[in-house]
Amino acid sequence: MNAAQNPTARALSRWEGEGGAPLPAALRDQFPGLVGGWHYLDSAATAQKPQAVIDAVTAALGRDYATVHRGVYARSAEMTLAFEAAREKVVGLIGGRAEDLVFTRGATEAINLVAYSYPEKGRVLLSTLEHHSNIVPWQLAGWQIDVCPLTADGRIDLDAAEAMLTPAHTIVSFAHVSNVLGSVLDVPRAVELAHRVGARLLLDGCQAVARLPVDVAALGCDFYAFSAHKLYGPTGIGALWGRAELLDAMPPWQGGGAMIDKVSFAGTTYAPPPQRFEAGTPAIVEAIGFGAAADYVRAIGLQAIHQHEAALVAELRDALRSRNDVTLFGPEESAGIVSFAMDGVHPHDLGTILDEEGVAIRAGHHCAQPLMEHLGVSATARASFGLYSDQADIAALLRGIERTRRIFG
Ligand code: PMP
Repeated sequence: MNAAQNPTARALSRWEGEGGAPLPAALRDQFPGLVGGWHYLDSAATAQKPQAVIDAVTAALGRDYATVHRGVYARSAEMTLAFEAAREKVVGLIGGRAEDLVFTRGATEAINLVAYSYPEKGRVLLSTLEHHSNIVPWQLAGWQIDVCPLTADGRIDLDAAEAMLTPAHTIVSFAHVSNVLGSVLDVPRAVELAHRVGARLLLDGCQAVARLPVDVAALGCDFYAFSAHKLYGPTGIGALWGRAELLDAMPPWQGGGAMIDKVSFAGTTYAPPPQRFEAGTPAIVEAIGFGAAADYVRAIGLQAIHQHEAALVAELRDALRSRNDVTLFGPEESAGIVSFAMDGVHPHDLGTILDEEGVAIRAGHHCAQPLMEHLGVSATARASFGLYSDQADIAALLRGIERTRRIFG
Protein backbone atom coordinates (compact mmCIF):
# COMPACT_ATOMS: atom_id res chain seq x y z
CA MET A 1 0.00 0.00 0.00
CA ASN A 2 1.49 3.39 -0.87
CA ALA A 3 1.42 6.41 1.41
CA ALA A 4 -1.57 7.96 -0.35
CA GLN A 5 -3.72 4.85 0.35
CA ASN A 6 -2.41 4.09 3.82
CA PRO A 7 -4.31 6.05 6.51
CA THR A 8 -1.46 5.75 9.05
CA ALA A 9 1.07 7.12 6.56
CA ARG A 10 -1.36 9.91 5.56
CA ALA A 11 -1.97 10.94 9.15
CA LEU A 12 1.74 10.85 9.93
CA SER A 13 2.86 12.78 6.89
CA ARG A 14 0.45 15.60 7.77
CA TRP A 15 1.64 15.47 11.36
CA GLU A 16 5.36 15.50 10.52
CA GLY A 17 4.60 18.67 8.58
CA GLU A 18 3.27 20.10 11.84
CA GLY A 19 6.58 19.33 13.52
CA GLY A 20 6.27 17.04 16.54
CA ALA A 21 4.25 15.63 19.43
CA PRO A 22 1.52 15.01 20.29
CA LEU A 23 0.56 12.36 17.78
CA PRO A 24 -2.07 13.33 15.21
CA ALA A 25 -5.72 13.04 16.19
CA ALA A 26 -6.37 11.24 12.89
CA LEU A 27 -4.68 8.11 14.29
CA ARG A 28 -7.55 7.76 16.73
CA ASP A 29 -9.97 7.27 13.84
CA GLN A 30 -8.15 4.06 12.95
CA PHE A 31 -9.37 2.38 16.15
CA PRO A 32 -12.98 1.15 15.75
CA GLY A 33 -13.10 0.38 19.48
CA LEU A 34 -12.91 4.09 20.23
CA VAL A 35 -15.82 5.31 18.13
CA GLY A 36 -18.50 7.27 19.93
CA GLY A 37 -16.14 9.41 21.98
CA TRP A 38 -15.33 6.76 24.58
CA HIS A 39 -12.51 7.89 26.87
CA TYR A 40 -10.49 4.72 27.15
CA LEU A 41 -7.81 5.05 29.84
CA ASP A 42 -7.08 1.36 30.38
CA SER A 43 -4.49 0.66 27.70
CA ALA A 44 -2.09 -0.83 30.26
CA ALA A 45 -4.63 -3.63 30.74
CA THR A 46 -5.08 -4.10 27.01
CA ALA A 47 -4.77 -1.74 24.07
CA GLN A 48 -7.46 -1.07 21.47
CA LYS A 49 -6.76 -2.44 18.00
CA PRO A 50 -6.14 -0.41 14.85
CA GLN A 51 -8.01 -1.33 11.67
CA ALA A 52 -4.71 -2.53 10.16
CA VAL A 53 -4.48 -5.29 12.79
CA ILE A 54 -8.18 -6.17 12.46
CA ASP A 55 -7.78 -6.43 8.67
CA ALA A 56 -4.69 -8.64 8.98
CA VAL A 57 -6.48 -10.96 11.41
CA THR A 58 -9.61 -11.06 9.24
CA ALA A 59 -7.63 -12.01 6.14
CA ALA A 60 -5.61 -14.63 8.02
CA LEU A 61 -8.75 -16.18 9.46
CA GLY A 62 -10.66 -16.01 6.16
CA ARG A 63 -9.21 -15.60 2.69
CA ASP A 64 -5.68 -16.81 3.58
CA TYR A 65 -6.41 -19.41 6.26
CA ALA A 66 -4.51 -22.71 6.38
CA THR A 67 -2.20 -24.51 8.78
CA VAL A 68 1.54 -23.82 8.95
CA HIS A 69 4.74 -25.86 8.75
CA ARG A 70 3.07 -29.10 7.62
CA GLY A 71 1.02 -28.49 4.51
CA VAL A 72 2.26 -29.59 1.10
CA TYR A 73 -0.23 -27.35 -0.70
CA ALA A 74 0.40 -23.77 -1.75
CA ARG A 75 -1.95 -22.05 0.72
CA SER A 76 -0.23 -23.70 3.66
CA ALA A 77 3.20 -22.82 2.30
CA GLU A 78 2.07 -19.19 1.97
CA MET A 79 0.64 -19.22 5.48
CA THR A 80 3.94 -20.61 6.78
CA LEU A 81 5.78 -17.75 5.09
CA ALA A 82 3.34 -15.23 6.58
CA PHE A 83 3.69 -16.81 10.04
CA GLU A 84 7.49 -16.71 9.93
CA ALA A 85 7.37 -13.18 8.47
CA ALA A 86 5.32 -12.20 11.52
CA ARG A 87 8.13 -13.51 13.73
CA GLU A 88 10.56 -11.26 11.82
CA LYS A 89 8.28 -8.25 12.25
CA VAL A 90 7.82 -8.83 15.97
CA VAL A 91 11.50 -9.35 16.67
CA GLY A 92 12.25 -6.31 14.51
CA LEU A 93 10.52 -4.25 17.14
CA ILE A 94 13.02 -5.23 19.82
CA GLY A 95 16.08 -5.59 17.63
CA GLY A 96 16.87 -9.31 17.91
CA ARG A 97 17.04 -12.29 15.53
CA ALA A 98 13.94 -14.27 14.56
CA GLU A 99 15.61 -17.57 15.61
CA ASP A 100 15.73 -16.24 19.16
CA LEU A 101 12.06 -15.26 19.41
CA VAL A 102 9.68 -17.87 20.80
CA PHE A 103 5.96 -17.29 20.33
CA THR A 104 4.11 -17.90 23.59
CA ARG A 105 0.55 -17.29 24.78
CA GLY A 106 1.68 -14.01 26.31
CA ALA A 107 4.16 -12.50 28.74
CA THR A 108 2.83 -14.78 31.46
CA GLU A 109 3.68 -17.92 29.51
CA ALA A 110 7.04 -16.45 28.47
CA ILE A 111 8.04 -15.99 32.12
CA ASN A 112 6.71 -19.43 33.04
CA LEU A 113 8.84 -20.91 30.27
CA VAL A 114 12.04 -19.47 31.74
CA ALA A 115 11.01 -20.29 35.32
CA TYR A 116 10.42 -23.94 34.37
CA SER A 117 13.11 -24.55 31.77
CA TYR A 118 16.09 -22.49 32.88
CA PRO A 119 18.61 -25.21 33.70
CA GLU A 120 20.31 -23.62 36.69
CA LYS A 121 17.43 -23.15 39.11
CA GLY A 122 18.82 -21.25 42.04
CA ARG A 123 17.81 -17.99 43.62
CA VAL A 124 15.86 -15.40 41.66
CA LEU A 125 15.80 -11.71 42.57
CA LEU A 126 12.40 -10.08 41.95
CA SER A 127 11.14 -6.71 43.16
CA THR A 128 8.23 -5.44 45.24
CA LEU A 129 6.53 -3.92 42.21
CA GLU A 130 6.29 -7.06 40.08
CA HIS A 131 3.10 -8.22 38.41
CA HIS A 132 1.82 -11.57 39.71
CA SER A 133 2.96 -13.03 36.37
CA ASN A 134 6.51 -12.31 37.45
CA ILE A 135 6.08 -13.75 40.93
CA VAL A 136 3.90 -16.85 40.84
CA PRO A 137 5.75 -18.75 38.05
CA TRP A 138 8.95 -18.62 40.12
CA GLN A 139 7.07 -19.86 43.19
CA LEU A 140 5.45 -22.71 41.26
CA ALA A 141 8.71 -23.75 39.65
CA GLY A 142 10.38 -23.98 43.05
CA TRP A 143 12.86 -21.08 42.95
CA GLN A 144 14.23 -19.43 46.08
CA ILE A 145 12.92 -15.87 45.84
CA ASP A 146 14.48 -12.67 47.14
CA VAL A 147 12.63 -9.38 46.86
CA CYS A 148 14.35 -6.11 46.05
CA PRO A 149 12.69 -3.10 47.75
CA LEU A 150 11.65 0.16 46.05
CA THR A 151 12.89 3.72 46.31
CA ALA A 152 10.62 6.25 48.02
CA ASP A 153 9.26 7.39 44.64
CA GLY A 154 8.45 3.85 43.49
CA ARG A 155 11.37 2.65 41.38
CA ILE A 156 13.26 -0.62 41.86
CA ASP A 157 16.04 0.26 44.28
CA LEU A 158 19.15 -0.86 42.42
CA ASP A 159 21.44 0.14 45.30
CA ALA A 160 19.54 -2.39 47.39
CA ALA A 161 19.75 -4.91 44.53
CA GLU A 162 23.50 -4.47 44.46
CA ALA A 163 23.73 -5.21 48.17
CA MET A 164 21.43 -8.26 47.89
CA LEU A 165 22.85 -10.02 44.84
CA THR A 166 25.16 -12.98 45.40
CA PRO A 167 26.61 -15.69 43.13
CA ALA A 168 23.70 -17.89 44.29
CA HIS A 169 21.36 -15.76 42.14
CA THR A 170 21.03 -17.23 38.68
CA ILE A 171 18.23 -14.97 37.45
CA VAL A 172 17.16 -11.39 38.14
CA SER A 173 13.66 -10.75 36.81
CA PHE A 174 12.36 -7.17 36.84
CA ALA A 175 9.59 -5.22 35.13
CA HIS A 176 11.04 -2.88 32.51
CA VAL A 177 8.04 -0.60 33.20
CA SER A 178 5.76 -1.06 36.22
CA ASN A 179 2.13 -1.68 35.27
CA VAL A 180 0.98 0.23 38.37
CA LEU A 181 3.47 3.06 38.81
CA GLY A 182 4.83 3.46 35.29
CA SER A 183 8.37 3.48 36.75
CA VAL A 184 11.03 2.77 34.17
CA LEU A 185 13.90 0.47 35.15
CA ASP A 186 17.48 1.64 34.73
CA VAL A 187 18.24 -1.38 32.55
CA PRO A 188 21.98 -0.83 31.91
CA ARG A 189 22.61 -0.71 35.64
CA ALA A 190 20.39 -3.74 36.32
CA VAL A 191 22.27 -5.68 33.61
CA GLU A 192 25.59 -4.69 35.10
CA LEU A 193 24.58 -5.74 38.61
CA ALA A 194 23.11 -9.07 37.48
CA HIS A 195 26.05 -9.98 35.28
CA ARG A 196 28.55 -9.03 37.95
CA VAL A 197 27.37 -12.01 40.05
CA GLY A 198 26.88 -14.27 37.03
CA ALA A 199 23.06 -13.96 36.99
CA ARG A 200 20.92 -13.43 33.89
CA LEU A 201 18.49 -10.53 33.58
CA LEU A 202 14.95 -11.24 32.42
CA LEU A 203 12.92 -8.15 31.64
CA ASP A 204 9.14 -8.26 31.87
CA GLY A 205 8.61 -5.91 28.95
CA CYS A 206 4.83 -6.13 28.87
CA GLN A 207 4.30 -2.43 29.55
CA ALA A 208 7.56 -1.14 28.09
CA VAL A 209 7.39 -2.53 24.58
CA ALA A 210 4.29 -0.46 23.73
CA ARG A 211 5.68 2.73 25.26
CA LEU A 212 9.45 2.92 24.81
CA PRO A 213 11.93 2.15 22.05
CA VAL A 214 13.40 -1.24 23.00
CA ASP A 215 16.61 -2.71 21.61
CA VAL A 216 17.57 -5.90 23.40
CA ALA A 217 21.15 -5.82 22.11
CA ALA A 218 21.70 -2.25 23.28
CA LEU A 219 19.98 -2.95 26.60
CA GLY A 220 22.17 -5.99 27.21
CA CYS A 221 19.42 -8.06 28.87
CA ASP A 222 19.27 -11.85 28.52
CA PHE A 223 15.52 -12.50 28.18
CA TYR A 224 12.66 -10.20 27.19
CA ALA A 225 8.99 -11.16 27.70
CA PHE A 226 5.96 -9.35 26.26
CA SER A 227 2.35 -9.72 25.09
CA ALA A 228 0.78 -8.70 21.77
CA HIS A 229 -2.48 -7.41 23.22
CA LYS A 230 -0.84 -4.50 25.05
CA LEU A 231 0.93 -3.65 21.82
CA TYR A 232 -2.26 -3.08 19.79
CA GLY A 233 -2.27 -6.73 18.66
CA PRO A 234 -4.48 -9.76 19.43
CA THR A 235 -4.86 -11.60 22.72
CA GLY A 236 -3.57 -15.15 23.07
CA ILE A 237 -0.07 -14.48 21.80
CA GLY A 238 3.15 -12.98 23.09
CA ALA A 239 6.83 -13.65 22.88
CA LEU A 240 9.96 -14.57 24.73
CA TRP A 241 13.20 -13.29 23.25
CA GLY A 242 16.30 -14.95 24.67
CA ARG A 243 20.01 -15.06 23.98
CA ALA A 244 20.68 -17.90 21.55
CA GLU A 245 23.07 -19.77 23.84
CA LEU A 246 20.62 -19.59 26.75
CA LEU A 247 17.63 -20.81 24.73
CA ASP A 248 19.80 -23.52 23.28
CA ALA A 249 20.69 -24.81 26.74
CA MET A 250 17.05 -24.93 27.85
CA PRO A 251 15.12 -28.21 27.59
CA PRO A 252 11.58 -28.18 26.21
CA TRP A 253 8.86 -27.56 28.74
CA GLN A 254 5.81 -28.78 26.83
CA GLY A 255 5.74 -31.76 24.49
CA GLY A 256 3.74 -32.28 21.33
CA GLY A 257 3.82 -31.65 17.61
CA ALA A 258 6.16 -29.13 16.00
CA MET A 259 8.74 -29.13 18.81
CA ILE A 260 10.40 -32.42 17.85
CA ASP A 261 13.24 -33.54 15.67
CA LYS A 262 12.53 -37.30 15.71
CA VAL A 263 10.04 -39.24 17.84
CA SER A 264 10.25 -42.89 18.79
CA PHE A 265 9.16 -44.84 21.85
CA ALA A 266 12.81 -45.46 22.55
CA GLY A 267 13.45 -41.74 22.86
CA THR A 268 12.68 -38.40 21.24
CA THR A 269 14.97 -35.64 20.08
CA TYR A 270 13.92 -32.04 19.90
CA ALA A 271 13.95 -29.23 17.37
CA PRO A 272 16.25 -26.29 17.96
CA PRO A 273 14.77 -23.05 19.38
CA PRO A 274 12.38 -21.40 18.82
CA GLN A 275 10.34 -24.44 17.63
CA ARG A 276 11.54 -26.46 20.64
CA PHE A 277 9.32 -24.26 22.83
CA GLU A 278 6.32 -24.07 20.49
CA ALA A 279 4.52 -27.38 20.97
CA GLY A 280 1.31 -27.91 19.03
CA THR A 281 -0.37 -25.98 16.24
CA PRO A 282 0.61 -22.39 16.92
CA ALA A 283 -1.67 -19.36 17.24
CA ILE A 284 -1.34 -18.75 13.49
CA VAL A 285 -3.88 -15.98 13.08
CA GLU A 286 -2.80 -14.24 16.27
CA ALA A 287 0.85 -14.33 15.21
CA ILE A 288 -0.05 -12.63 11.95
CA GLY A 289 -2.01 -10.01 13.88
CA PHE A 290 1.00 -9.58 16.19
CA GLY A 291 3.19 -8.95 13.14
CA ALA A 292 0.71 -6.38 11.82
CA ALA A 293 0.71 -4.64 15.22
CA ALA A 294 4.51 -4.54 15.22
CA ASP A 295 4.45 -2.99 11.75
CA TYR A 296 1.84 -0.48 12.90
CA VAL A 297 3.77 0.83 15.91
CA ARG A 298 7.05 0.85 14.00
CA ALA A 299 5.46 3.03 11.31
CA ILE A 300 4.49 5.55 13.98
CA GLY A 301 7.69 5.15 15.96
CA LEU A 302 8.10 4.18 19.61
CA GLN A 303 9.94 7.40 20.35
CA ALA A 304 6.97 9.42 19.09
CA ILE A 305 4.55 7.25 21.07
CA HIS A 306 6.70 7.65 24.15
CA GLN A 307 6.79 11.45 23.83
CA HIS A 308 3.06 11.56 23.22
CA GLU A 309 2.30 9.55 26.35
CA ALA A 310 4.91 11.41 28.43
CA ALA A 311 3.19 14.73 27.63
CA LEU A 312 -0.17 13.28 28.70
CA VAL A 313 1.32 11.83 31.91
CA ALA A 314 2.84 15.22 32.80
CA GLU A 315 -0.47 16.99 32.14
CA LEU A 316 -2.53 14.54 34.19
CA ARG A 317 -0.06 14.46 37.08
CA ASP A 318 -0.01 18.29 37.18
CA ALA A 319 -3.80 18.43 37.23
CA LEU A 320 -4.11 15.80 39.95
CA ARG A 321 -1.35 17.39 42.03
CA SER A 322 -3.26 20.66 42.06
CA ARG A 323 -6.09 18.92 43.95
CA ASN A 324 -5.70 18.51 47.69
CA ASP A 325 -7.79 15.33 47.81
CA VAL A 326 -5.66 13.14 45.56
CA THR A 327 -2.56 11.06 46.36
CA LEU A 328 -0.32 10.35 43.39
CA PHE A 329 1.80 7.20 43.29
CA GLY A 330 4.97 6.56 41.33
CA PRO A 331 7.76 8.72 39.99
CA GLU A 332 7.21 11.91 37.98
CA GLU A 333 8.76 10.56 34.80
CA SER A 334 6.56 7.48 34.62
CA ALA A 335 5.81 5.90 31.26
CA GLY A 336 2.19 6.18 30.15
CA ILE A 337 0.65 5.16 33.50
CA VAL A 338 -0.70 7.23 36.41
CA SER A 339 -1.91 5.58 39.62
CA PHE A 340 -3.70 7.63 42.25
CA ALA A 341 -6.16 7.56 45.15
CA MET A 342 -8.91 10.02 46.09
CA ASP A 343 -9.43 10.74 49.76
CA GLY A 344 -12.56 9.03 51.08
CA VAL A 345 -13.45 7.38 47.76
CA HIS A 346 -12.78 3.73 47.00
CA PRO A 347 -11.17 3.35 43.55
CA HIS A 348 -14.01 1.01 42.52
CA ASP A 349 -16.59 3.73 43.29
CA LEU A 350 -14.54 6.24 41.32
CA GLY A 351 -14.29 3.80 38.43
CA THR A 352 -18.04 3.22 38.45
CA ILE A 353 -18.88 6.93 38.44
CA LEU A 354 -16.32 7.56 35.70
CA ASP A 355 -17.90 4.81 33.64
CA GLU A 356 -21.19 6.74 33.74
CA GLU A 357 -19.25 9.64 32.22
CA GLY A 358 -17.86 7.48 29.42
CA VAL A 359 -14.41 7.23 31.01
CA ALA A 360 -12.80 3.80 31.47
CA ILE A 361 -10.06 3.51 34.08
CA ARG A 362 -8.77 0.50 35.99
CA ALA A 363 -9.46 0.21 39.72
CA GLY A 364 -8.02 -2.56 41.82
CA HIS A 365 -4.77 -4.24 42.78
CA HIS A 366 -3.62 -4.50 39.15
CA CYS A 367 -2.27 -8.03 39.78
CA ALA A 368 0.37 -6.51 42.04
CA GLN A 369 -0.80 -7.30 45.57
CA PRO A 370 2.67 -7.11 47.16
CA LEU A 371 2.99 -3.59 45.74
CA MET A 372 -0.43 -2.62 47.15
CA GLU A 373 0.72 -3.85 50.55
CA HIS A 374 3.88 -1.77 50.21
CA LEU A 375 1.82 1.32 49.29
CA GLY A 376 -0.50 0.65 52.24
CA VAL A 377 -3.65 0.54 50.09
CA SER A 378 -5.93 -2.27 48.93
CA ALA A 379 -6.36 -0.75 45.48
CA THR A 380 -5.49 2.27 43.33
CA ALA A 381 -7.22 4.04 40.48
CA ARG A 382 -5.09 3.81 37.34
CA ALA A 383 -5.29 5.85 34.15
CA SER A 384 -3.10 4.52 31.37
CA PHE A 385 -2.55 5.96 27.93
CA GLY A 386 -2.09 4.63 24.43
CA LEU A 387 -0.98 6.26 21.22
CA TYR A 388 -4.63 7.29 20.58
CA SER A 389 -5.12 9.00 23.97
CA ASP A 390 -5.57 12.75 24.00
CA GLN A 391 -6.28 15.79 26.13
CA ALA A 392 -10.02 15.26 25.80
CA ASP A 393 -9.56 11.96 27.68
CA ILE A 394 -7.79 13.80 30.49
CA ALA A 395 -10.44 16.54 30.58
CA ALA A 396 -13.21 13.92 30.81
CA LEU A 397 -11.36 12.12 33.61
CA LEU A 398 -10.95 15.36 35.56
CA ARG A 399 -14.64 16.24 35.11
CA GLY A 400 -15.53 12.78 36.41
CA ILE A 401 -13.24 13.18 39.43
CA GLU A 402 -14.90 16.53 40.18
CA ARG A 403 -18.36 14.97 39.96
CA THR A 404 -17.24 12.12 42.24
CA ARG A 405 -16.09 14.71 44.80
CA ARG A 406 -19.50 16.37 44.70
CA ILE A 407 -21.22 13.01 45.23
CA PHE A 408 -18.92 11.91 48.10
CA GLY A 409 -18.62 15.40 49.61
N1 PMP B 1 3.66 -8.13 33.41
C1 PMP B 1 3.15 -6.89 33.41
C2 PMP B 1 4.01 -5.75 33.88
C3 PMP B 1 1.84 -6.69 33.00
O1 PMP B 1 1.32 -5.46 33.00
C4 PMP B 1 1.07 -7.81 32.59
C5 PMP B 1 -0.37 -7.64 32.15
N2 PMP B 1 -1.13 -6.81 32.99
C6 PMP B 1 1.67 -9.06 32.60
C7 PMP B 1 2.96 -9.19 33.01
C8 PMP B 1 0.93 -10.27 32.13
O2 PMP B 1 0.63 -10.17 30.78
P1 PMP B 1 -0.35 -11.23 30.08
O3 PMP B 1 -1.54 -11.32 30.97
O4 PMP B 1 -0.65 -10.59 28.77
O5 PMP B 1 0.40 -12.50 29.96
